Amino acid sequence: MEKVRLYDKTFRPFIPNEKIMDSIAKTAEKINADFRGCEDIPILLCVLNGSIMFTAELMQMLEFNCELVSIKLTSYEGTGSTGHVKQAMGLTADIRGRRVIIVEDIVDTGNTIVELKRILEEHGAAESKVCTMLFKPDSYTKDIPIDYVAMEIPNDFIVGFGLDYNEIGRSLRDIYILDE
Ligand code: 5GP
Ligand code: MG
Repeated sequence: MEKVRLYDKTFRPFIPNEKIMDSIAKTAEKINADFRGCEDIPILLCVLNGSIMFTAELMQMLEFNCELVSIKLTSYEGTGSTGHVKQAMGLTADIRGRRVIIVEDIVDTGNTIVELKRILEEHGAAESKVCTMLFKPDSYTKDIPIDYVAMEIPNDFIVGFGLDYNEIGRSLRDIYILDE
């Protein structure tokens, strides 16, 4: 695999697609163990835009009926968090009384998760779990448990498999890390 250039920055290969897919399969197995045979129809909440690829792959591996709902939140500019979570698009469906599985691309400081939990409570969700493709344990400062983590990574800036640098790089099938 080769390095990629996005605007002014260079990124080097970090997690190959095969490893990403393998970790998603393992995560799906854990969710299936918890939800298989359930009588309700849980909601998969795709947090746009970053989570789009992860949600699509994960969903295909789930062995129970679920409903896809989206929301769009933004907090990053360039390679860092602004510390301020903006709601760019609200929930695409009514979630009142439903169990929700939040599907995130990456949990970094946890600000987004705090805001998501607040929004879900405000809209009357019965219960919510957090599932993330990537988790930065050294950056996370919140008490909310992250129920399903596909991969843990160090506190570096990454792109690919849905994750962007100023909106480009999302389409890369592998994950890349900032090359300094
Ligand atoms: P948090 O609110 O937990 O600090 O950050 C969550 C959001 O910030 C993620 O959903 C993602 O959009 C963005 N983010 C955090 N770390 C990274 C990263 O390393 N690369 C990219 N592209 N986005 C990130
Ligand atoms: Mg996200």
